Amino acid sequence: MDLEKLSVEYDRLYEEASDLLNKYNPCQFEGNQCVRNRIDLESGHFRPDGDVVKNGCCDTTSCSHLTSRGCNTKALGCKLHICSELHRRKHREFYTKIKLLTREAQDIFGTWIIQCYWGKKRYLDYLAAGAILPEV
Ligand code: SF4
Ligand code: SF4
Repeated sequence: MDLEKLSVEYDRLYEEASDLLNKYNPCQFEGNQCVRNRIDLESGHFRPDGDVVKNGCCDTTSCSHLTSRGCNTKALGCKLHICSELHRRKHREFYTKIKLLTREAQDIFGTWIIQCYWGKKRYLDYLAAGAILPEV
């Protein structure tokens, strides 16, 4: 698959994952904090710095894409991420659908698409630099 088609597929999967998150609302953002961050903060479990978790980001304190206005990139891996709290809550319909998208993304972009916080451009640049992809 050439890079132009990969770019189209990346956007499609990103939009489909975004639609699922909007439709099922598994992360239950309130005041720009997700359910897991609220639980962690309330329990004093970690992240004492409230600023870090008020911007809608999923799960990091050090990502370079994290700004005071939220994420500034298009990271498919983050859209497909399911944390332990979501595993525990068993949003079955959402879970089944996001897993299908995840498998599709891994078939197209390689398995570690879901393990990285890279934005689209960096990921496609990485592929363009000669990373080996599965045949699709
Ligand atoms: S996947 Fe978990 S940590 Fe990430 S936004 Fe959703 S509830 Fe929060
Ligand atoms: S790329 Fe992922 S980890 Fe980084 S700010 Fe965006 S959503 Fe958060």
